[in-house]
Amino acid sequence: MAKGRLIVLTGPSGVGKGTLLRSLLQRHPDLYFSVSITTRAPRPGEVNGQHYFFVKRAEFERMVVDNELLEWAEFAGNCYGTPRRPVEEQIRQGRGVVLEIELEGARQIRRNFPNAFQIFILPPSMLELEYRLRSRGQDSEEAIVRRLERAKAEINAADEFDIRVINDDINKALDQIEATLFTPVESLAV
Ligand code: 5GP
Repeated sequence: MAKGRLIVLTGPSGVGKGTLLRSLLQRHPDLYFSVSITTRAPRPGEVNGQHYFFVKRAEFERMVVDNELLEWAEFAGNCYGTPRRPVEEQIRQGRGVVLEIELEGARQIRRNFPNAFQIFILPPSMLELEYRLRSRGQDSEEAIVRRLERAKAEINAADEFDIRVINDDINKALDQIEATLFTPVESLAV
């Protein structure tokens, strides 16, 4: 069911979406990962064009005005958006396209692409999420506090999604996602 379809992966910052996504793409190279545009500064090790396209705010605003983004949102003081053209092109070619985006963006996609399949990744607990955010050591204390605040709001909206997956054990979480995305629809019928 992944073919030619938008697959949205959402979940609080620090929940491990990135790791899950990397493993999913390794197992299914036929899936296309949409590289987002952001005004956030690159973290150490992040590569332009691979993790994100890093742009200045003025350039981001221009893209919004010119309707070059499929969805976009502000998150913890920075803007993030999905470039429209490559995603539409891949869908047209019949590929499954994965967007790793936050809640507001997921809602925009839901409105505009009712056929998109939306997955929400949950942490085993808030304490564990805070621990993960702190131990990756990538954000300032202020950014961590903002991300935790946002995490609570996002988790409250988890029921809006087609499925919820708890990322306690990465392999189990991955198996659950795969089972949903790659089980032929007819074998799901009762
Ligand atoms: P980070 O700064 O940790 O890389 O990302 C912060 C949040 O922005 C994450 O929840 C991530 O999923 C989300 N995000 C990344 N790219 C996009 C995008 O293109 N659109 C939206 N709406 N959110 C995004």
